[in-house]
Amino acid sequence: MWGKLKRGLMKGAVNVKFDMVLRGGWVVDPANGFEGAADVGIAEGSVARVAPELDPGKSAVVHDVSGLVVMPGVIDMHVHTSRRHKGYNAHRMMARAGVVTALDMGGPLDEFLEFSKHNSAGLNMAGLQQVRPGHTVAGDDPGEGEIRDLLEQSIQEGAIGLKLLGGHYPMTPEATRRVIEVCNEQRSYVAFHSGTTRTPGDLEGFVESVELAGELRLHIPHINSYCRGVHGSPLAETAEALSMLQGRPNLFTESYLATINGTSGRCIEGVPESQATQRCLMERGYEPTAGGLQEAIRDGYARVTREYGAENVNVTGEEAVEAWLAEDTYVSVNFPVNSAVSRFLCAVSRDESERFIVDAISTDGGGHPRNVAVEHGLALVRAEGLTLSELVQKISWAPATILGLPSKGHLGVGADADLTVVDLERCGAVMSFNAGEMIMYRGAVTGTGTTIITSEAGERALRRRGLDAYVARLEDGIFYGKDRPF
Ligand SMILES: [Zn+2]
Repeated sequence: MWGKLKRGLMKGAVNVKFDMVLRGGWVVDPANGFEGAADVGIAEGSVARVAPELDPGKSAVVHDVSGLVVMPGVIDMHVHTSRRHKGYNAHRMMARAGVVTALDMGGPLDEFLEFSKHNSAGLNMAGLQQVRPGHTVAGDDPGEGEIRDLLEQSIQEGAIGLKLLGGHYPMTPEATRRVIEVCNEQRSYVAFHSGTTRTPGDLEGFVESVELAGELRLHIPHINSYCRGVHGSPLAETAEALSMLQGRPNLFTESYLATINGTSGRCIEGVPESQATQRCLMERGYEPTAGGLQEAIRDGYARVTREYGAENVNVTGEEAVEAWLAEDTYVSVNFPVNSAVSRFLCAVSRDESERFIVDAISTDGGGHPRNVAVEHGLALVRAEGLTLSELVQKISWAPATILGLPSKGHLGVGADADLTVVDLERCGAVMSFNAGEMIMYRGAVTGTGTTIITSEAGERALRRRGLDAYVARLEDGIFYGKDRPF
């Protein structure tokens, strides 16, 4: 019966007229167990057929992608698009890097939505509201009622959940646990940059965050960043972090591949406001003060993010000091603190059953100039650290599954026609499409508008705000739903 049904469907599909065909590419679709030479036919914003030699006469537009790899659109589970991250450039920077969908890790929600509206590049974006003492909650020990109110308001405005900024702006362990509990109870997304008032955001903080989560669902971001060699060697710390993640299917994780971290350069009364910034300074023997930071910038240890045209770049030396002072220190700075050992091991390590221990490769990029998931991911493929299918799993299929997006992350018939076309030889993205619309072509951004991925409760407010909404349910993925399929 299945055979008959399948033949019937295929027969129907032969008569389909396509809006677009990507012709002659190497198609990689691990969710459907497919990798091989094939054409991809798109109709009405969805994948209509993947098969060798589709009839180009049946399509309005044909792109020759021979020699290139066609994959489901890249989904970056960790980006920043706030004002401090010069978020007005973030969408274009992501699009140029081959990203089609991204999760903004912590707002502020209002800035995320404003830049999505006015500085768009045709992407899909989901957003988390930050839980930050003195900003979205009064102090570092908010009670259940205050947390509940913040979550409800954020969801109504279009966020899919909350982000705890522990490593930068810590709260008490008790309040941190309360946030995770409230989000789990409401079936909302919750992510936690490890660190509380008791524990800094290094390996110690990571261990604490695993304990605070208990059996609850939690996204712990950038696993590599907790393994910088503060307590032991980066190798020993990475091994410990990876072993703690095993047997904990309630934790959802990503790591990134850039050397640099990203933190705040803002100083208040002569002191960097971010504890992460203070730690980076002390690790290299600088004072954890504005003076210490200035010295580190001048020496080239700290880099300052500034913009050139529509692109954010990192600069060092006198130019960097000037850029930092010109904006009253309220800029992103970063330090080359991510060891290759932790970056590579988090990306490629597997457990005994050959499953990846860290679910996804992200960038922690966006406005931070380090949107390198495709570029460095393909380099890992070329170095035979990952297969192409494994990379696609980590930069598209796994994120789609965690975020509850069953129509994304794969190229099955009916899936959203979100596609990234990459050049394996040059380790870069060449073009990308969102729902069949081209958003990037050879580095030029052609997309406009942003589609916000939201829950049903947030749809109205987003449309009122003039943004497109894409309603998704976390229960349709693995965050609150079924087991990992990979
Ligand atoms: Zn981040």
